[in-house]
Amino acid sequence: MSNTKKPFVTKAQLDEIIKTYPTPFHLYDEKGIRENAARVKEAFSWNPGFREYFAVKATPNPYLMRILGEYGCGCDCSSMAELMLSEAAGFTGDDIMFSSNVTPAEEYVKAAEMNAIINLDDITHIPFLEKTLGYIPKKISCRFNPGGVFQMSNGIMDNPGDSKYGMTEEQLFEAFRTLKEKGAEEFGIHAFLASNTVTNEYYPKLAGILFELAVRLQKETGCHITFINLSGGVGIPYRPEQEGNDILAIGAGVHEQFDKILVPAGMGDVSLCTEMGRFMMGPYGCLVTTAIHQKHIYKEYIGCDACAANLMRPAMYGAYHHITVMGKEDAPCDHKYDVTGSLCENNDKFAIDRMLPEIENGDILVIHDTGAHGSAMGYNYNGRLWSAELLLKEDGGVQLIRRAETPKDYFATLDFSPEYKKMFG
Ligand SMILES: *Cc1c(COP(=O)(O)O)cnc(C)c1O
Repeated sequence: MSNTKKPFVTKAQLDEIIKTYPTPFHLYDEKGIRENAARVKEAFSWNPGFREYFAVKATPNPYLMRILGEYGCGCDCSSMAELMLSEAAGFTGDDIMFSSNVTPAEEYVKAAEMNAIINLDDITHIPFLEKTLGYIPKKISCRFNPGGVFQMSNGIMDNPGDSKYGMTEEQLFEAFRTLKEKGAEEFGIHAFLASNTVTNEYYPKLAGILFELAVRLQKETGCHITFINLSGGVGIPYRPEQEGNDILAIGAGVHEQFDKILVPAGMGDVSLCTEMGRFMMGPYGCLVTTAIHQKHIYKEYIGCDACAANLMRPAMYGAYHHITVMGKEDAPCDHKYDVTGSLCENNDKFAIDRMLPEIENGDILVIHDTGAHGSAMGYNYNGRLWSAELLLKEDGGVQLIRRAETPKDYFATLDFSPEYKKMFG
């Protein structure tokens, strides 16, 4: 276990990048993304039908989605725009898992037009879908919520009983019977019971629950279950003292449950799928920002040119994101700072009471692990604009994969009068 976290980019590289692309920006590590995607593929290679459907919401960028596509990944979508983005990036049909909730009718229409696999969040969506499409697709999935509390041996827990997603067990049995009557032939089940689990135990434990349920479902309803979806929730070590998950051990743990439960039940042909977002991309992105102000009042503040509009997780969840002051990696962390953005919101802080090396204006800060649910959760509060996304290529080059938003983008939805056009045209 190491108490340091090293950025995937060097200060020299960043100094060069910043000459062309001013901070703040999110930077992604192509090499890291590829190596991890290859490991995920290997971890589940024992299951011939295995497929990871990358949770597009985590990092909705077609360049990154296509890199994952090279490793066999599809896309997990839950909105119209995510379906359209996936289609534009070249994904279609079985490449797409549509795991949405509170789904508008037109999104079911779009998903069906694309032949995406539809994962129903609720039993009432069966008549809704049938009314919307005029039929029930032959291949269909239902989302399960076991209720209660889901706990693992290291104390990590989550609260399915409080979550809005999925169907009760009783509803799931009824849903399968109804769907079969209406013409469905290939069935899947899906569950997402805990988020950001930094333990190798989560997927195997979830798999055990879903596999046993699948055996009973198939036996009692006669529905042919062809796929089981472990969804997302595999976590990453945001804190330097945390040990990361070992995806090979996770794959082996799921394999054990598969051989123990599904194979003896004659269900060894079931394909597994996953919908990881965070694990696929989180560690392979960072937010690069410049320290532009220092303030000494009752506490010591460092003001950055990035703010919560570029990375919402600390403000929203109090999430920890490690910070490296570039060029000062070996300097003593003997200064206690609040590292802040410019929003007129006191929770706009990337770090509170964080021990860091002495920071001077102009220092480049790397905020780690922003590759998933980072840029994606960007917003425009206080008129702050979305920052650029850059890809650090395997050969060391840099590619702009999303340009920074401009004031013109920000005003594009406002007004179309000639006066306005004169101002911002
Ligand atoms: C958010 C989400 C995911 C991805 O979750 P991660 O924690 O990023 O792995 C997968 N599936 C569904 C349905 C989701 O809502």
